[in-house]
Amino acid sequence: MASRKLIVDVHSHLYSPRLVSLFRKRTNLPKIISRFRDDGQKEERLVILDDEPGGGRPVGPIYIERDEKLKFMKKHDIDISIVSTANPWLDFLPAKEAHEMALQLNDDLEEYCSTGPNVPNTSIRQLYGFGLLPLVPEITTESLLETVRQISASAHLKGLSNGYPRTAGLVVFIHPHYGVGKAWGEKDNGHVLPLALGFPFETTVAATRIILSGVLDRFPSLRLLLAHSGGALPQLSSRLKHDARFYLGKLYLDAVCYGSEELGFVSDVLARSNRYETGSKNVALGDRTTGSKRILFGTDHPFFPPLSSSEKWKSVVENLEAIENVHGWTEADKEGVKGGNAISLFNL
Ligand SMILES: [Zn+2]
Repeated sequence: MASRKLIVDVHSHLYSPRLVSLFRKRTNLPKIISRFRDDGQKEERLVILDDEPGGGRPVGPIYIERDEKLKFMKKHDIDISIVSTANPWLDFLPAKEAHEMALQLNDDLEEYCSTGPNVPNTSIRQLYGFGLLPLVPEITTESLLETVRQISASAHLKGLSNGYPRTAGLVVFIHPHYGVGKAWGEKDNGHVLPLALGFPFETTVAATRIILSGVLDRFPSLRLLLAHSGGALPQLSSRLKHDARFYLGKLYLDAVCYGSEELGFVSDVLARSNRYETGSKNVALGDRTTGSKRILFGTDHPFFPPLSSSEKWKSVVENLEAIENVHGWTEADKEGVKGGNAISLFNL
């Protein structure tokens, strides 16, 4: 075992070569286009949404190559990453193709993780993954169940992105794709309005729908990890009264969006949840240590790269600093958020 506590990144993306080659062949969105930059260099850009500014986002080896992922992890002392395919997943495919592609991508991801290196002096791998479900209209239940069985049988796939099967003990990563549509604004604000803000709002709505539908009552052992720190749900849960305040404490949130003050606030909100259990006479405030157990470090790599390849990534440095500076978290709480909570959640 390493002498320091392990750092685990639960929010880390990739596009497999198989998916990239599909995007390159497509003429409709989502697709990869090639173009020349102002400096004359050729680049590829992935365009996934209508009206996306700047011709989409650049995609290069950091989105695709495992060695690039490992280099990034080494530079930031990240020991383990739980990687997931980035949006748009398979929403754009007809059901049969989506099913076949999901099975292939899950096999690709299992190989990506299983043939990667171990954390030195341990039997723990450095890479684990979230499998992908073909969640498209017209998909059959049997196709979904077959895919869940495949993911469950893959030793290095510890969860799946979106969808919530109650079996198999898989962690479910709830991650947005569409953001807030048509909210680009009149000025060129890049991706700020529909994605930087829109993504967490999409997650807020998705998590609230899960709560209101009673899924967490029917399947209380379900482990849901919300991307982008659960969006605005912690701040808005009192507008939804009892249910959201209680069930918020049953969720897991990544620590991707927050500064120190917000992380402290969110851990208070998570910790108070049992006060809102039906029939509870408990009026005690929760403590920050209890709330911290459900918060997990993430980076959203390879999005938000630095301008120079030699620099550390600002998003990563700031996320770690935010965790380090939460008032009221003990050293053990911080180590839990940085890695220990993930090691427990994913049974690594
Ligand atoms: Zn993400």
